[in-house]
Amino acid sequence: MQPTDRIREDVREFTPYAPGLSMEEIKERYGLARVVKLASNENPLGASPLVKRVLARKADMVFRYPRAGNPALVAALAEAHGVPRGCVVAGNGSDEIIDLLVRVTCRPGVDNVVAFAPCFSIYVQQTKLCGVELRQPPLGPDFAFDLPALAGACDAKTALVFLTNPDNPSGYAVPADQVVALAKSLPPRALLVVDEAYVEFADPEADHSMLPRWGQCDNVVVLRTFSKLYGLAGLRLGLGVMPEWLADYLLRVRLPFSVNLLAEAAGIAALEDTPFRQASLETVLRGRRLLAEKLTGLGCRVYPSKANFLMFAPPSPQCGAADVFKALLGRGIIIRALKSYGLPELLRVSIGNDEENDLFLAAMKDLVENGC
Ligand SMILES: *Cc1c(COP(=O)(O)O)cnc(C)c1O
Repeated sequence: MQPTDRIREDVREFTPYAPGLSMEEIKERYGLARVVKLASNENPLGASPLVKRVLARKADMVFRYPRAGNPALVAALAEAHGVPRGCVVAGNGSDEIIDLLVRVTCRPGVDNVVAFAPCFSIYVQQTKLCGVELRQPPLGPDFAFDLPALAGACDAKTALVFLTNPDNPSGYAVPADQVVALAKSLPPRALLVVDEAYVEFADPEADHSMLPRWGQCDNVVVLRTFSKLYGLAGLRLGLGVMPEWLADYLLRVRLPFSVNLLAEAAGIAALEDTPFRQASLETVLRGRRLLAEKLTGLGCRVYPSKANFLMFAPPSPQCGAADVFKALLGRGIIIRALKSYGLPELLRVSIGNDEENDLFLAAMKDLVENGC
């Protein structure tokens, strides 16, 4: 017997999530003093000053368990989004909510899950880990949502349909009215999970989010995260808004303290810090216009984006996406290659602060004009 014979056969096929090189690794490898990271769609202004003060104050309390169910955070979230408290489940990142939804609703070997190809890797991983079939109709031309194809892939055994709006990695988004129509067209068992990780950047948010339309559909779950606009990626905090009967079951099976004491305090403070959020949003919208215009000017094909990143194809076949990615790394600029999404000819860059955007654009200009 091999020691690993003890591992489930389907689990033996897993490869770890590849997050790319860290800033420290890049500095060491290329002997650089400064590294600019535009790879993970984090907040370009860093963390909120109010959050930092609250975290310092809360440090004394970390020997205590948080309150079960994080009632103060849930109340603040319900208030902020105008939904009933019983509909809100906080999680250790929205990743945890995705995992719980699959495990609570999908019967292994019986049910199926539907999502576009390509999609966020966590939908694929958690579905596979549960032994549940994943059906993936392709996106339409230019990464547009083919919503009839998504609905068409469903049947009576479809437990979940994932839709990322705005989408990652393309930045494509549809108005929420189309999502409502999709929800109403699904078979009775299917729940539509709308991942709104980037919806705050979908100017105007109110036209694109399902939360202002809460109550119009009884088969929708909305996912939100504190990792992007709110600047808390490292603390791990996300939420799901869902029908109360479903929230009740997620809370029954969730590990009791997955949202830790500091994440809870930081989340409440981040909700209160409207000026920081406003400044972050303005920085991203301004940077998105600038990067789109300048990259297009350099001959790149830039896909329209409603998120805090841009997907683009570099201009010349001699200096393709992989070369541009590597040449940027050598200059200390980390962006995202999309090979793992099955898009080897495309790149994704997160919108940075003004200085980071300028450094990225200067490097791109040099590469396009002088070769990789
Ligand atoms: C970044 C991202 C999230 C957020 O995940 P967290 O676990 O909350 O950090 C969720 N969905 C998509 C599609 C994302 O890109």
